Amino acid sequence: MIKNKKSGQLIIVSAPSGAGKDTVVRGVMEKDNHNRWVSVSATSRSPRKGEQNGVDYYFFSKEEFEQKIKEDYFLEYAEYAGNYYGTPKEFIKEKLDQGIDVILIIEIQGAAIVKQKLPESLLIFIMPPSLKTLVKRLKGRGTDSNDKIIERFHTAYKEINEVTKYNYVVVNDKLEEAIEKVDAILKAEKCRVDRIEEVYLDTKEEEIHELLLDKEFNNESISSKID
Ligand code: ADP
Ligand code: 5GP
Repeated sequence: MIKNKKSGQLIIVSAPSGAGKDTVVRGVMEKDNHNRWVSVSATSRSPRKGEQNGVDYYFFSKEEFEQKIKEDYFLEYAEYAGNYYGTPKEFIKEKLDQGIDVILIIEIQGAAIVKQKLPESLLIFIMPPSLKTLVKRLKGRGTDSNDKIIERFHTAYKEINEVTKYNYVVVNDKLEEAIEKVDAILKAEKCRVDRIEEVYLDTKEEEIHELLLDKEFNNESISSKID
């Protein structure tokens, strides 16, 4: 009776560094990794301990990254904390055409570029429960120097002010609850009326419709109720 759009949805997840966006998205993917795909970004920053090329990021030198910009390789790119970050265009259209939701975990400047290019994108902001918790998580992660943590913390102020440009905000206090909420948002988006491509009546419906319009049938059913 209802035919929905087959294409997947482009979903942007942003958050101040350390708020838990990678952790939340990992949980969301554990719930459904068939119909969702997380894009692997490119960056000019150095790999952190344990990060793998092609898995966590594509690691490029500054020069390589700038060459890729010239080649129009990116859907969007931005400078963040002194490094380049960008979303390769490759695979995105293909995944969306296959009906797979594409998740971009990107900062706010890149999110604004994608929203401008593709206004139907869905923007989700992951908020830390407090700034105190944010610092605790940044320190606890143990991947950044004190200087970097201070720099990222300052940037967090600016980022939090941008929340009103997003469609949804999810506070990441209890991890499982945050995962449930993002998962629910993605599911609810699939039910939006503007995803309907066509509404039609199949044969059975049409028959019932005809019967309901039939005067004699109506009279019969009413009188049978009286008897
Ligand atoms: P981001 O991707 O936003 O920079 P991460 O996902 O790397 O943040 O999370 C930062 C740190 O906080 C990690 O050590 C992670 O395990 C931890 N963390 C994430 N979410 C929660 C949560 N709800 N409660 C406690 N710790 C969390
Ligand atoms: P990190 O260095 O902590 O991995 O990432 C720093 C910031 O860059 C995070 O907010 C992360 O979401 C963002 N980021 C990662 N990949 C991209 C990307 O492809 N484009 C943009 N604009 N930001 C990205």
